[in-house]
Amino acid sequence: MTKKVLKFGGTSVGSIDRIKHAAKIIKREYDKKNKIIVVVSAMSGTTNNLIAHAESISKKFNKRELDVLLTSGEQVTSALMAGALTDLGIKSKSWMNWQIPIITEGDHSNSRIVNMNIKDIEKYLSKDGIAVIPGFQGVSKSGDITSIGRGGSDATAVAIAKIFNTDSCEIYTDVDGVYSSDPNKVPLAKKIEKISYEEMLELSSLGTKVMQASAVQTAMMHEIPLHVKSTFTNRKGTEIINQENIDYKKVVTGVAYSKDDAKITLIGVEDKPGVAADIFEPLSKNDINVDMVIQNISADGKKTDLTFTIKRQDKNNAASLLESNNKIKYETLQMNDKVSKISIVGAGMVATPGVTYKMFRTLAEDKINILAISTSEIKISVIIDEQLTIQAVKKLHKTFNLD
Ligand code: ADP
Ligand code: ASP
Ligand code: MG
Repeated sequence: MTKKVLKFGGTSVGSIDRIKHAAKIIKREYDKKNKIIVVVSAMSGTTNNLIAHAESISKKFNKRELDVLLTSGEQVTSALMAGALTDLGIKSKSWMNWQIPIITEGDHSNSRIVNMNIKDIEKYLSKDGIAVIPGFQGVSKSGDITSIGRGGSDATAVAIAKIFNTDSCEIYTDVDGVYSSDPNKVPLAKKIEKISYEEMLELSSLGTKVMQASAVQTAMMHEIPLHVKSTFTNRKGTEIINQENIDYKKVVTGVAYSKDDAKITLIGVEDKPGVAADIFEPLSKNDINVDMVIQNISADGKKTDLTFTIKRQDKNNAASLLESNNKIKYETLQMNDKVSKISIVGAGMVATPGVTYKMFRTLAEDKINILAISTSEIKISVIIDEQLTIQAVKKLHKTFNLD
């Protein structure tokens, strides 16, 4: 007997027919005598619609109430799924986060699961019931409803796999698995059979939506194997596992992109020790994360240009902090938010020289200008003009033999 978490994403529960279809997949697993905990997302589009409702009331909608609102989407699908399973003749019951409870820490919209009570659900599983749990939500120690970040049902599934010590965690979605790039944008992308936690974490953090980054991080820390597969086909999916179990044949495993960044350039910054610290200190104190930094060599030793990237949502806040910073002197501030970040990721890069050069040469051939660069052991990211995003992704995909 195996204990499993089966998580169904928004498209997989996006209509009544789809919920009924997902219930049949769950029944198939249940009939094999598995103990099953189901985690569901809201129906596709629901969370976005709820955000739009809140914004139409106020651009600064109360954060506590926003979490109460957003988590309602998963409540709906939990009840519908438990009802669909009951209709198939299976004993099933939904639990809301506060009934379990799933305890979270952190700010509203951005909490993380730290614990949950497993007693009642374990008892229910032992009596052959299927537990249905809403993803994306929890309850704070002070009793407020919280949400755990966009795409957070993945994180709920992994947290449940960890705390209930399940044998597997299966992520059912609208694609067959993790591909070498977004299969909806790059038709030549190929499915990856096995990918390491480290690579998946980089890809997810760099814009690959199919798995949420914090879910992958928890899975990596606790060595929980994940299986990403399709709700709509029976094809074998992708296993996210430890690197030592993977035989690397390619240097680059995947190409990711995101349109979350903005680039700021300060022109004519006084070039003296401590100036970079003076520029970045107020940003960090205001929780603005600086990603890539480029400082030009100053020709006269007096003035230089400093370019850096931040999350796009922080751009106005960052600009006003820089403009009101009396400790620094510069001539002009330039902001560009029509940029995208393109990244190649691969554990095979560690042992292969020349990957950076090959990436830059490929982009140069298409006259794509690189505006900023950052690297780690297994990834290279560049900032480019947003309009050239898909062209660059496709070209890199081909260059690194992923087509
Ligand atoms: P769910 O609602 O099931 O959580 P998501 O929409 O969050 O699904 O993630 C699935 C989507 O991720 C796919 O429809 C696909 O467009 C996108 N995606 C982006 N990059 C990749 C990739 N490398 N492999 C697979 N899917 C990807
Ligand atoms: N419904 C939430 C979202 O759209 C969580 C999820 O789908 O994973 O972000
Ligand atoms: Mg998702």
